[in-house]
Amino acid sequence: ATPMSIMVGTGLGAQNGVLIKNAEALESMEKVDTIVVDKTGTLTAGKPELTAIDAMAGQNEDELLTLVAAVESASEHPLAEAIVRAAEDKSLTIPKAHDFNSTTGEGVQAIVNGKQIAIGNSKLMQSLNSFDSELSSKADIRRKDGETVMFIAIDDKAAGLVSVADPIKPSTADAIKLLHDAGLKVVMLTGDNEKTAQAVANRLGIDEVHADVSPEDKNRIVKEMQNSGRIVAMAGDGINDAPALAQANVGIAMGTGTDVAMESASVTLVKGDLMGIAKAHKLSHSTMQNIR
Ligand code: ADP
Ligand code: MG
Repeated sequence: ATPMSIMVGTGLGAQNGVLIKNAEALESMEKVDTIVVDKTGTLTAGKPELTAIDAMAGQNEDELLTLVAAVESASEHPLAEAIVRAAEDKSLTIPKAHDFNSTTGEGVQAIVNGKQIAIGNSKLMQSLNSFDSELSSKADIRRKDGETVMFIAIDDKAAGLVSVADPIKPSTADAIKLLHDAGLKVVMLTGDNEKTAQAVANRLGIDEVHADVSPEDKNRIVKEMQNSGRIVAMAGDGINDAPALAQANVGIAMGTGTDVAMESASVTLVKGDLMGIAKAHKLSHSTMQNIR
């Protein structure tokens, strides 16, 4: 590629909110046949809002919200922020938590008012022997609407559910349609539950879904796709996406996400809008055509 046409290409990209780090990224983008996207913060706004608290018999909803908000005050996860905000909106007094610990991709735990409080996914509940099948069925009902559901345990006993909804970004559906029109396959990777992931994927017409994946899994799945001959662009926003962004042929970070994601990627979408991928793909094509 000539330096001049690459400069024009990256310049046009920048004008459209697509920051391309190097010539290689612009060249690779044209060859990409698979777009892998993270769900939370990439397809969705990444600003979840609390939708429901389901308390087990003998538990009070506000009391549950107070306890989990105390634990989540120490977490920086978007799910944590949604829970703390909901408690603040209800003017609940959030007590201090201590002995906080976090298991990435599973959930968090701490001691609040002398009780051991855990909040997270079913994997965390299983490891605490706090899994409850009745609560799990209730969770599945909420997941059908695309809500993310977290389990609560108090002193290792199932106590309830907290559910949040994270709206799909307005531009996501149109962007996926453009990518499909360009002949690209769109794959979702998420640490969230299979049922929630599938509900979101169905709404957007996403071709393939991998749910319940850890950050290492995200990286491994991208590698496996490459080994089977696919050329992969990966779009993500979080620390947990960084290894996969670095592994992909083209890593695409959301400008609205974490710095670590942007450092690991060769393309940044300033507005955190997937429409930018469709633009980058088109731009790559026209730049490479000018060169030939
Ligand atoms: P994603 O790929 O959607 O960004 P993560 O890998 O960060 O998801 O988390 C996977 C799952 O682990 C979440 O859907 C949630 O059930 C649970 N989890 C992670 N962090 C927390 C937290 N701070 N509080 C409650 N649950 C959490
Ligand atoms: Mg994310």
